[in-house]
Amino acid sequence: MQRSDTPEQAEFRTEVREWLEAHAEPRKGEGDWSNGPREHTPEAEAAYFERCREWQRTRFDGGFACITWPEKYGGRGGTPVQEIIYGQEEAHFDVTAGFLPASISLVGPALMRHGSVEQCKRYLRPLMRGEETWCQLFSEPDAGSDLAAVRTRAERDGDEFVVNGQKLWTTSAQHCDYGILLARTNAEAPKHAGITFLLVDMKIPGIEVRPLITMKGDRHFNEVFFTDVRVDVANVCGEIDRGWAVAKTTLANESMMIGTGTQTQGTTASLVQYAMDHGRWEDPLVRQRVAEAYVQERLLGFLRDRLQEAVLEGRMPDVDGSVMKILWSESRTLRAEVGLDIQGTDGLLAGDDAFDHAYWQQLVLDRSMGSVGGGTLEVHRNGIGERVLGLAREPRADRDVAFRDLKTSTEG
Ligand SMILES: Cc1cc2nc3c(=O)[nH]c(=O)nc-3n(C[C@H](O)[C@H](O)[C@H](O)COP(=O)(O)OP(=O)(O)OC[C@H]3O[C@@H](n4cnc5c(N)ncnc54)[C@H](O)[C@@H]3O)c2cc1C
Repeated sequence: MQRSDTPEQAEFRTEVREWLEAHAEPRKGEGDWSNGPREHTPEAEAAYFERCREWQRTRFDGGFACITWPEKYGGRGGTPVQEIIYGQEEAHFDVTAGFLPASISLVGPALMRHGSVEQCKRYLRPLMRGEETWCQLFSEPDAGSDLAAVRTRAERDGDEFVVNGQKLWTTSAQHCDYGILLARTNAEAPKHAGITFLLVDMKIPGIEVRPLITMKGDRHFNEVFFTDVRVDVANVCGEIDRGWAVAKTTLANESMMIGTGTQTQGTTASLVQYAMDHGRWEDPLVRQRVAEAYVQERLLGFLRDRLQEAVLEGRMPDVDGSVMKILWSESRTLRAEVGLDIQGTDGLLAGDDAFDHAYWQQLVLDRSMGSVGGGTLEVHRNGIGERVLGLAREPRADRDVAFRDLKTSTEG
């Protein structure tokens, strides 16, 4: 059952709505892309990124960025429920801060929990305002699901680390000012124990960002190469060799954030309308698929309500982040596929020939965002098995072995 707002929540919702009406245009429909990058040229993508920065700045100046963060860091000092209400209301408007809210929620909590006072003072405000943008330099060719296997080295030289190695799948690195980097600082220790979490200026010499073009044609990801990059020891977040604890803070936020996000999730109502517009609503197969999408949407909605309810009552939510992430991803994929099915053979069209600027086609091609980004569905299922169901843990033969003695997939 959808909980109705308390008087305070209703008041906040009105404040948010009035502010949004004064600063943004209403969204016309789910396929309304006017704020997204339609063309995939570097110039168009850079312009889109600038629009995202601008909206983040507007939100911050209005007091609606980082609603739950403490006021001493520039947040609103508000409640998670207010954050949810803001997300629900913003979804009705034709605005986006793109991936910035995601990167903010990866970097900010890590800094607030593990960073020094100086680091918080220096980085948090420009981060929240979108003045300085951050990418996540975690994955590598041989370290994705098994993230603690990172091989990028950071070797101590006086008051600096010298970084060498390669990162992969780094979202928006080509537009970002800073990055959070996981690097190996001790190969004698077991793999989780010799990693350090570094804050890196992306403009310093020795960093090369090479965009990768996806099947959608965009430059979402990058390879990032580090050659003798010098990073000040003052840029360690947390403790040297104990960066895994900092990484865990960001990863926990990532799956919960992906699963609870409202901004990219449309509703089944728009699918029904879409089927009607295309004269497909009488087709029983289409209706059946729309019904499946509706069931998923409701399940996700109930879990979000349960989370919200727990937050309202001051309890720890008993809904696991991995469960939310899996359901969100599956629901998003199903909706995208139904959107394509409704178009029939027109669903094969791309570019200007396609309906709604190929909105549904793009969603289908973007499936890996939910199923791989922030950890694959298989790995999250393993996590649910171990954490929630108490099943036997995966065997970990590498637990007590020095990292330098581990075999890798590229060795014979
Ligand atoms: C949209 C998107 C954005 C991303 N952005 C970033 C970013 O900004 N920064 C960053 O650092 N990374 C980013 N990534 C990378 C992402 O975190 C990795 O792709 C992900 O962790 C999987 O790693 P991998 O690609 O190396 O696959 P692998 O780990 O090689 O997995 C290959 C296959 O094996 C399966 N598998 C692996 N281990 C197990 C296991 N133990 N049990 C069962 N199955 C298993 C996986 O499920 C998968 O199907 C992004 C990825 C996507 C899709």
